[in-house]
Amino acid sequence: MILKAYAADPLKTLGRRYTESKSINRNDFQRDRDRIIHSSAFRRLEYKTQVFVNHEGDMFRTRLTHSIEVSQISRGIARTLGCHEDLAETIALAHDLGHTPFGHAGQDALNSCMKIHGGFEHNLQSLRVVDYLERRYASFDGLNLTFESREGILKHCSIKNAKTLGSIGDRFINKHQPSLEAQIVNIADEIAYNNHDVDDGFRSGLLNFKALMQNTLFSRCAKVVDQIYSNISDGQKINEVVRRMIHLLIEDVCTQSQKNLDVYQPKNIYDVRILPPLIDFSSDLKKEQYELKQFLRHAMYEHPHVAKMTENAGNTIEKLFAHYIKQPKAIPENFSMDRIDEPARVIADYIAGMTDRFAIQAAEKL
Ligand code: MG
Repeated sequence: MILKAYAADPLKTLGRRYTESKSINRNDFQRDRDRIIHSSAFRRLEYKTQVFVNHEGDMFRTRLTHSIEVSQISRGIARTLGCHEDLAETIALAHDLGHTPFGHAGQDALNSCMKIHGGFEHNLQSLRVVDYLERRYASFDGLNLTFESREGILKHCSIKNAKTLGSIGDRFINKHQPSLEAQIVNIADEIAYNNHDVDDGFRSGLLNFKALMQNTLFSRCAKVVDQIYSNISDGQKINEVVRRMIHLLIEDVCTQSQKNLDVYQPKNIYDVRILPPLIDFSSDLKKEQYELKQFLRHAMYEHPHVAKMTENAGNTIEKLFAHYIKQPKAIPENFSMDRIDEPARVIADYIAGMTDRFAIQAAEKL
């Protein structure tokens, strides 16, 4: 791994909130990654919805497999650009830790339940998980990750919340960027979900080949596949197209970002933070990627089947929230014990941490 001057450097980390001695065999970012992999929130990603509710089928993406795909794409881009692969991997594996059960439907429902209590943001919740909710150490709460990992995990944040976060929130107030490694994960997240949603959408029957062919990016790659293979099934064709789309998007990000780096020539991570975002698609592919995203929103996320799930998910979350607000004692003692937060926040933390099936079972019991 050849690190460029603009890469994040574990030897120059802005440090952890609680001072710890250095490890003899791992750098600080590798240590952060290992802490995430051993966390209970990470294990629970296996049973959380990406688009399809976990019990709908074993062959669809979950938040765990999504996070692993994001990490694979991030590492490749980071390596190519001379950024720190370990930090990119860490941020990727942690980027969805704060997600509620039932994907975006769950997050929207919990946000509306929490409206008068300060709201609920899943990015902020991911930071809350690593800073506070994981309790694995006797001397402190949270995983005590480095500033660089925490900065990357907090992808978005409202100004109101940013003001309460200290140095980690400053970039939202000053409109600065995070490290290149964090920018890489953001774009890798988009590449991963657009492509795996095409794949899952096709296999679930929500999307068909004809509809997919309306997309510039998809049809462009499909034409290449047609030139090579004349007699393959639609399923094989989807696989061939998806892998080409992923490949094309990754190559495009690497080429365009390298151009941006050559123009702006950041000398270190501090330059990166005050420059415009440097990790990006070319303008052509950005348009095509956006077209695909809009198509998926309409054809998949607004599909009656998924919309039905969204409605059920919202009802489940609302039912649980209403119950716990009336009876906060129903929250397991080991979860709420010695919490200084207001009860609504403890309830939001508890519900956000649930897996899909745990939430369904808990709501059924009421
Ligand atoms: Mg994601």
